[in-house]
Amino acid sequence: MRLEGKIAVITGTAAGIGRASALRFAEEGAAIIGADVTEDANAETARLVEDAGGKMISVTVDVTDDASVAAMFATAHQQFGRVDILFNNAGVMLAGDDDAIVTSDEVIDRTLAINVKGVIHCCRHGIPALRRAGGGSIINTASFVASVGAATPQIAYTASKGAVLSLTRELAVIHAREGIRVNALSPGPLQTEMLMSFLDTDEKRRRRLVHVPMGRFGQAGEMANAALFLASDESSYMTGSNLLVDGGLTAAYVTPE
Ligand code: NAD
Repeated sequence: MRLEGKIAVITGTAAGIGRASALRFAEEGAAIIGADVTEDANAETARLVEDAGGKMISVTVDVTDDASVAAMFATAHQQFGRVDILFNNAGVMLAGDDDAIVTSDEVIDRTLAINVKGVIHCCRHGIPALRRAGGGSIINTASFVASVGAATPQIAYTASKGAVLSLTRELAVIHAREGIRVNALSPGPLQTEMLMSFLDTDEKRRRRLVHVPMGRFGQAGEMANAALFLASDESSYMTGSNLLVDGGLTAAYVTPE
């Protein structure tokens, strides 16, 4: 098994990529501390992991709240004694996120608080835990919009994911000699609740797919497999990288009909 004996903290495990990753990492032998603000759906993820023969403790955490993040790492330490993997996956794309002219400060502040400050809070408490374990792997979920401009405006989200990508590089450089690797995972457009509720008409979905050479949305499980690679020792010489898993979107100038 590829994560045998490893302890993984994953945020945003109540849905989408986080839930798929909790299931996939557990399948490969990791014990999971799954964090989410949504308590019931997160408990359901823990049940699904246990039903599949894995181990997951669900913890109710708001990543914008430093004290709640600190408490999660204390729980991880009490329950498992160590943390080897930190997957900073929780993120939001809020209704009302639009272009620079109309997007409110409230939407900008909330997006940055969750998507950027939340990652920093988890690193603040997670990096000392990884140090105590003698090193480990951090994966930060960015997005393809950190690399190319999105055709559907979402200025706060795009700014937040650019920040995630750049802070990933800095963390990688600062902590490389401690055996802590830090990489970004940049998904393309996915068929998860987050994007489907944002692209809420067939026309909007069609317009997004025009830019994807593969001509389809990605699946959460495909991101979980990419995160698994970054979490495992198979990526042992990778740090500061941006793993784009986007159906070819960022490679395309013109997509085939
Ligand atoms: P999702 O909405 O299905 O899941 C996100 C999870 O994060 C939810 O369970 C939610 O409750 C949790 N969360 C939100 N705010 C939180 C907070 N303050 N504290 C703790 N947990 C919180 O979304 P997803 O599609 O699985 O997205 C996961 C990550 O992938 C996000 O960072 C997202 O920005 C990124 N991403 C998604 C897509 C896409 O097309 N869906 C594309 C690129 C990047």
